[in-house]
Amino acid sequence: MKDLLNILVEKYRPLTLNGRVANYIPELSKMNPASLAIVVSDVASNTFSAGDYSMRFTLQSASKPFALALALMDNGADVVFDRIGMEPTGDSFNSLMKLETFTSLKPVNPLVNAGAIATTSLINGGSPEEKLDRLVALIRQLAPGCNIGFNRDVYLSEKQTGDRNRAIAYFLRDIKAISGAVEENLDLYFRQCSIEVDCITLATMAKTIAMDCDDANHPIPRQYRRIIRTFMFTCGMYNASGEFAINVGFPAKSGVSGAILGVVPKRYGLGVFGPALDHKGNSVAGVAMLAELSRELDLYLL
Ligand code: GLN
Repeated sequence: MKDLLNILVEKYRPLTLNGRVANYIPELSKMNPASLAIVVSDVASNTFSAGDYSMRFTLQSASKPFALALALMDNGADVVFDRIGMEPTGDSFNSLMKLETFTSLKPVNPLVNAGAIATTSLINGGSPEEKLDRLVALIRQLAPGCNIGFNRDVYLSEKQTGDRNRAIAYFLRDIKAISGAVEENLDLYFRQCSIEVDCITLATMAKTIAMDCDDANHPIPRQYRRIIRTFMFTCGMYNASGEFAINVGFPAKSGVSGAILGVVPKRYGLGVFGPALDHKGNSVAGVAMLAELSRELDLYLL
């Protein structure tokens, strides 16, 4: 496995030249576009790493499945899906388009920005800090012993420039998809995006989501793990989710930091980092590595 991962990093690193680092969050533009890493963690807890796997990066949208898990645990599925839809979208992750045209006047799914901001509003806690602490505590349980940090510079950078997300949040309040203090809700959303990990942590988190056991000690109940994996499969790679399902074939969630968290149910958790992105916001070399890994190990679910 380790040899295969080393080959993938070597083969696809030149592809990073075809992508661009996200710059709409100014602090993210400081990342090195040539960075590339992949880590595989199997359910027996063996970990295989290649490339720049000790580099740290923010979760960005890869935080969304975990915020969803917490919202589900806090409220139950009926309440969550009364507010947020379950359908994939062909629009970009930060689009406002479907908010007005989607039949039920609610965000289309929990993994686009609008749905994630609505999800965040359903997390219990007295303040954004307390809610973030609960989310970080959940992630720590998913990746015990790993170093889960917080990148304050990225958080402040997005908070200062995140007008599109601000527009989404105010629109959501107007259509009553969120209630309460909009700026506090946004603050928590920006904070969750700035949780900082490395690829080993990402793979360990993914491996815990890949477990399908009905174990009462698992931090996320089995029925909610299934919901999260299904959303990752249908919506996790933004408006490239269909193509990713065909070419890679298992659930994943990407973030504009270049993170991809991949879940092969009952088998593997994958952590990828490659900040050079394609025009849809996915790691260009990361997606290529996962497609080849899937071909080599036959990881297609369907
Ligand atoms: N913080 C980012 C944003 O809201 C997350 C988006 C992403 O990773 N696709 O724009």
